[in-house]
Amino acid sequence: MTTNPELQAVLFDLDGTLYVGDEAVPGAVDAVSRVADLGIPRRYLTNTTRFSRRALRERLVSMGFPVEEDELYTASVAATYWLQARGFRRVAVYLPEAARSDFADFEIVEESPEAVVVGDLGPGWSFERLNHAFRQVLEGAHLVALQKNRYWRTPEGLMLDAGPLVAALEYATGQTATIVGKPNGEFFDLAVRALGVKPGRAVLIGDDIEADVGGAQRAGLRGGLVRTGKFREEALASSGVTPDWTEDSVAEMVERLWP
Ligand SMILES: [Mg+2]
Repeated sequence: MTTNPELQAVLFDLDGTLYVGDEAVPGAVDAVSRVADLGIPRRYLTNTTRFSRRALRERLVSMGFPVEEDELYTASVAATYWLQARGFRRVAVYLPEAARSDFADFEIVEESPEAVVVGDLGPGWSFERLNHAFRQVLEGAHLVALQKNRYWRTPEGLMLDAGPLVAALEYATGQTATIVGKPNGEFFDLAVRALGVKPGRAVLIGDDIEADVGGAQRAGLRGGLVRTGKFREEALASSGVTPDWTEDSVAEMVERLWP
């Protein structure tokens, strides 16, 4: 094992890169363990907002990944920084119950919020809830989207992600949402700087050509694409993004970058 002097930090995408559904991607646990053994600073980035950071860590540990809670950088965590920086206190949160604890420092309200935070409510959406969020934004709340991914892969097949719902609210209100998760450059930048590494010396490994690889490259990082999870050859071809590396899975990617 050798370290790669060009690459001093790694950001791993989670869903579709390290696991699909409740199953670790074959070889992923060994790949992450190897990077940890080499002492390479790392963060785990996810737009997933179905779980709190604590619940997400428990999930990863149960699959065998050596992950600490403070190494997890989620779109919810990015949203709390964003809200704090603007002094927003009263927020309406459109997230599953399991993900709401990340917002414990805020007053979660149904009426007159300063910001409407939209994430992976999934099957929790109804016409009524969407309409309620629509009215809150029209009445002056800032529309904050944790992410705007189009879809994600589950063991049952592709499913609508938060993006189409965010787009519906944007269309109806005429407001453009602030997207705090991937591919917002600030999201990658804060994660890399927290590791004390220059963006150009860090690589993001992910399965989403646009939100992972494209976003990371725009923020000055290198982007490694894996052919697991939501990877589709057609999406790669139409994206206009050229990954720095493309490999079949995170196992091959780690082998390639740290041979
Ligand atoms: Mg992913």
